[in-house]
Amino acid sequence: SSMESDSNLYKTLQVDLGDRSYPISIGQSLLQNTELLQQRIRAQRVVIVTNDVVAPLYLSGLTQQLQGLGKQVESVILPDGEERKNWESLMLIFDELLQKKCDRKTCLIALGGGVIGDMTGFAASAFMRGVPFVQIPTTLLAQVDSSVGGKTGINHPLGKNMIGAFYQPQAVLADIATLASLPDKELSAGLAEVIKHGAIIDAAFFDWIEANIEKLRARDHDALSYAVLRSCEIKANVVKQDEREGGLRAILNFGHTFGHAIEAGLGYGAWLHGEAVGCGMVMAADLSHRLGYIDFVTKTRITHLVEAAGLPTVAPDLGEATWLDLMEVDKKNEGGQIKFILLKPLGTSIITTVPAQYLRDTLRACTH
Ligand code: NAD
Ligand code: MG
Repeated sequence: SSMESDSNLYKTLQVDLGDRSYPISIGQSLLQNTELLQQRIRAQRVVIVTNDVVAPLYLSGLTQQLQGLGKQVESVILPDGEERKNWESLMLIFDELLQKKCDRKTCLIALGGGVIGDMTGFAASAFMRGVPFVQIPTTLLAQVDSSVGGKTGINHPLGKNMIGAFYQPQAVLADIATLASLPDKELSAGLAEVIKHGAIIDAAFFDWIEANIEKLRARDHDALSYAVLRSCEIKANVVKQDEREGGLRAILNFGHTFGHAIEAGLGYGAWLHGEAVGCGMVMAADLSHRLGYIDFVTKTRITHLVEAAGLPTVAPDLGEATWLDLMEVDKKNEGGQIKFILLKPLGTSIITTVPAQYLRDTLRACTH
């Protein structure tokens, strides 16, 4: 991926995926940037997919901008919530598209967090066998993680994200200004994935996050812009090398093996995904330290940064048997053997199995 500076208002990062390449623009007030909207949303006819939390905040502004460009604009407002990331909501999108007689040139615009992005992307991949789609992520998690990489989909009652497709957007517009209305908890959850990117790929970025964590939590515009930009750059680089998760892309699951066990063990929704990942990174750092891959100071820095981001650092005591059970069913594992993403050292990651005793020690040390 390459980076260019388009103006002092925003930066653009090109995701290089051959004929599926697309630009991600990151900056302040992109939703009011008529010129950029015109450049990135080429279709004459657009359908904005959003939810009942985001619609009152940003839908009319975006609609007016696009109408001002002479486009025919319609919208679908879905009920909010991860539990609504399902077949019924997907059908509501298709119902609207068909009732409005949309065709294969209609562009779907996802305006919302990761739930809206994943569902809209999947709808776009399947409607008329594929229509253009643009992501306008409005949560920090969606800006740094879910809007990059082309994974789209919905949940099934038997498993999260089990029905989906790889489908790349035409463009991503990450407007930092939309983060102003985000609840603190959601901001912290997004920071977990930002910290993850530093920990697994870029120790200098990790240092930068450490130095700027207070600014990030105070929603300083420049700090957030840089955090989103660097995160997208790191994720885009990994995805470029392994678009369909044959190998390398798995390093993006750092903290997620423990995190998924926490989410499943407490019941989905008890902790936000980012909270579970934050705590999971503390556990993965503990395990990395036990195996001699990172020193004690590094392990402590990771714990402190997760805490400073407003995330939990102590895991719930699910009981050892439950922990092991839940980690083994993690869908990223093949053949039942638990593979961990560990730091060796900070800024570099490895994927490996570990001796059972080390894992037990980590579980004992990190839970209560
Ligand atoms: P979310 O979409 O549920 O958003 C969190 C909450 O914030 C929701 O209530 C939402 O309505 C609200 N919200 C969104 N923007 C807002 C704003 N600007 N101001 C105020 N409130 C706002 O959750 P999320 O954390 O953005 O995304 C989680 C989803 O993303 C999960 O379904 C997960 O599976 C998926 N995901 C996908 C990928 C991928 O690669 N496709 C990666 C990570 C996560
Ligand atoms: Mg994640």
